Amino acid sequence: MTIRRIDLRGAPSSGAPVDYRAAVPRAEFDVEAAAHVVQPMLDDIKSRGVEAILELSARFDKVELSDIRVPAEALTKALAELEPEVRAALEESIRRLRATCANELEADAVTDLAPGARVVHRKVPVGRVGLYVPGGLAPLVSSVLMNVVPAQVAGVRSLALASPPQREFGGLPHPTILAACELLGVEEVYAVGGAQAIAMFAYGVGPCAKVDLVTGPGNIYVVTAKRLLKGQVGIDSEAGPTEIAILADETAEAAYVAADLISQAEHDPLAASVLVTDSEALADDVEAELEKQVSATKHVERIRTALGGSQSGIVLVDDLEQGLAVVNAYAAEHLEIQTRDAHDWAARVTNAGAIFIGPFAPVSLGDYSAGSNHVLPTGGCACHSSGLSVRAFTKSVHVIDYTREGLEDVKDHVMTLAAAEDLPGHGAAVRVRFE
Ligand code: NAD
Repeated sequence: MTIRRIDLRGAPSSGAPVDYRAAVPRAEFDVEAAAHVVQPMLDDIKSRGVEAILELSARFDKVELSDIRVPAEALTKALAELEPEVRAALEESIRRLRATCANELEADAVTDLAPGARVVHRKVPVGRVGLYVPGGLAPLVSSVLMNVVPAQVAGVRSLALASPPQREFGGLPHPTILAACELLGVEEVYAVGGAQAIAMFAYGVGPCAKVDLVTGPGNIYVVTAKRLLKGQVGIDSEAGPTEIAILADETAEAAYVAADLISQAEHDPLAASVLVTDSEALADDVEAELEKQVSATKHVERIRTALGGSQSGIVLVDDLEQGLAVVNAYAAEHLEIQTRDAHDWAARVTNAGAIFIGPFAPVSLGDYSAGSNHVLPTGGCACHSSGLSVRAFTKSVHVIDYTREGLEDVKDHVMTLAAAEDLPGHGAAVRVRFE
């Protein structure tokens, strides 16, 4: 098992700061190249609707379908046939996620500035959302929960969900995904994958009415479609191929670090697994553990490709201070801190989709049952975007509530600024109320 090393030790202490983001490159994730494939698909779906979606499903998902909507009976049947232990695990994940989401609900912010001068920052749920649940390489049932629960807690009234049709299940999405929809009371489900699903949501196609916001993770075609349709529809962050960075020192358990690097690589050949450490001994031990553990995994080829790719590696740094600078520059989707005083280091992280502290908070806990959300910004977007939460499904609107007294108090300032901007009509609109 080869994983490359990037040695950043001995960086100059003076002169221009080192560009750590460039020093730890990411996967070849060429959205612009994918746009050449995706844009014609979007155009085709816009003009021919369901017919185009069915043709694309035949081409990419190898299924011959006559309808895109999943019938209600299929949802009921999937839940009835769900294995009891899977149902129990889903229910516990839902319970934990609902608890954190309920705690995230924000009250309206009411500010009284003077007598009769009130501004309210009112929180309003998005009206209709389209939720994407990946199903290409793995049926990500957990992504059903991560999309649906915050949307429901936010108070979204209308909610549609799409996941790729599966040949082995008669062209329906994976039954566990359907069972999770039924468990959560999601009735509007579509057997549509990839860019097609995002186009269906954004344009409103056939039985699926246009949505206001699309959320959810996916592969390069999903991410590209979201980027191309942004503006016509709202999107959450770009949640593409998964990434883990681990900041670790010599106190870390090499077997845990290796297992966590592998668990991300298992998602996708484009997944990135990056260890940042000041301990060469730990780096050696992790490499030995990777050698041992990778061959025992199910998806060996996918994992080897991801770990051996240019997007993965072990980064050696002088000390944890430099390590912190590297992980903040990298802005990983998932960041684990496996160091002495892990809470202190975690408190100084400014850029990460989610932070996992200490040896007993592996990313796979966050993937399923931590109570946190696993739909997180990738590709460095964590420096400006957040993962899914109740807030992603909520808009806010300022409500300006002034009385005559409140306006009179500030009217001279308004008229002065209107004159300063050479917009006398603005000033007149205030003056007329006091003549
Ligand atoms: P997917 O559902 O995103 O994509 C499958 C669809 O891609 C298919 O239905 C098909 O329509 C389309 N497709 C396949 N080949 C195509 C082609 N050549 N041209 C056009 N369209 C094509 O499932 P996936 O592929 O398994 O990807 C899931 C991704 O989601 C992974 O990269 C995983 O890492 C990522 N993920 C990210 C997060 C996050 O929060 N960032 C969370 C979970 C999963």
